[in-house]
Amino acid sequence: MLFDIIMRDRPLLVIAVLIAAGTFLFLRFLQTPDAAPDEESPVQTVSLATDEFGVPISELSVIQETVRRNETFSDLLTPYDVGYERIVNLAREGRDVFDVRRLKSGRPYRVYTDSSGTGRYLVYQPNLASYVVFDLGEEPSIRMEERDVLVRQRSIDGVIEESLYMTLIGQDIHPTVANRMADVFAWQIDFSRLQKGDSFRILFEEQYVGDHLFDIGDVLAARFVHRGEDYFAFHYQNDVVDEHYDETGKSLRKAFLIAPVEYKRISSGFTRRRFHPVQKRYKAHLGTDYAADPGTPINATGDGVVTEARYGQYNGNYVKIRHNGTFTTQYLHMSKIKSGIRPGVRVKQGDVIGFVGSTGLATGPHVCYRFWKNGEQVDHRREKIPSVGPIPSQYLANFNVQRDDYLLQLTAPINPTIDRSYAELLETPEAVTSP
Ligand SMILES: [Zn+2]
Repeated sequence: MLFDIIMRDRPLLVIAVLIAAGTFLFLRFLQTPDAAPDEESPVQTVSLATDEFGVPISELSVIQETVRRNETFSDLLTPYDVGYERIVNLAREGRDVFDVRRLKSGRPYRVYTDSSGTGRYLVYQPNLASYVVFDLGEEPSIRMEERDVLVRQRSIDGVIEESLYMTLIGQDIHPTVANRMADVFAWQIDFSRLQKGDSFRILFEEQYVGDHLFDIGDVLAARFVHRGEDYFAFHYQNDVVDEHYDETGKSLRKAFLIAPVEYKRISSGFTRRRFHPVQKRYKAHLGTDYAADPGTPINATGDGVVTEARYGQYNGNYVKIRHNGTFTTQYLHMSKIKSGIRPGVRVKQGDVIGFVGSTGLATGPHVCYRFWKNGEQVDHRREKIPSVGPIPSQYLANFNVQRDDYLLQLTAPINPTIDRSYAELLETPEAVTSP
């Protein structure tokens, strides 16, 4: 997602560089002819102008480039007559500031050269919010700078025609917001089954560096009307909790995910008696089979501790997790157990524990998901799954105040003051809240 944002913004960056270079040349053109040769100036007429990275650009040319696949730091500099020894020293001395082995292909960098074409500075941008300046001079040095990230609150209303994704795109909202919403309401709404006419209002944060959209922040609050039913979400965060709650302060998250994998279909449900396709006999199937592409990540459906992670003749590669005194889950037929997943390791809900395969007794790639309640295997799809704890009582009063404020914003008639377009927002300083 972030990559898309950057790619979209790159043309602007190029234009900005061209404008800067043009301005610079124009100013130099203005300056040079006026200098009287016979007048002794106390200071040399060296412009101290620096660019947005703090590099003194007078007398230097700027080459804007992109790190290519497999390019090393020394590859970037050798065309600019920077000695290999200097490059190696710079990389070694500056490792604590920035490790040059962390250069990523696709990221922009600039080289500043003097009139002889020798590299004087290199600026690399690991992301929009930070940059590294390498001084390639006689006393080489590295500094890393962070840019300010501004957080702006935004509000969006919409009615579903096709999908949330398409509705957001249609309103020039970054589609990451759709992913955030799907996370917030993962236990309430199946976003692949939205209906035409479902409607929503979302209050969310956008993070900017300068006027570049850097990332989408939290969904602060949301209202989703799905099949005529109202769903609310309110974000509450302090040093202890960071959750989305419903209007009564109940967590929207359940103790267990509905499924351990992004699946294509349920190839076999839970039954106490069925015909086994491999063993050719009637046999209970005390799990749910989720067919998915080989290699799809498998997620722990709840927080817990790994009790088994190994190969078995029938189960293939499998992982078993104990969640508490009541619930245990198991995931079979993995192509591979994720490295680091072994008995005793603590996992969080959603953590990847392995990858879909068909090891053991399996006809095709799927996850056989098994669910124990009080030591008995049950059909998890028929169980009433408990929620994660509600808002802790000591924060309830505070939560209620905040919820009421959000609720007003979520239920107010569509209002131009909270539904500003992107361009207007950028020009409205009071919309800026400090990060
Ligand atoms: Zn199965």
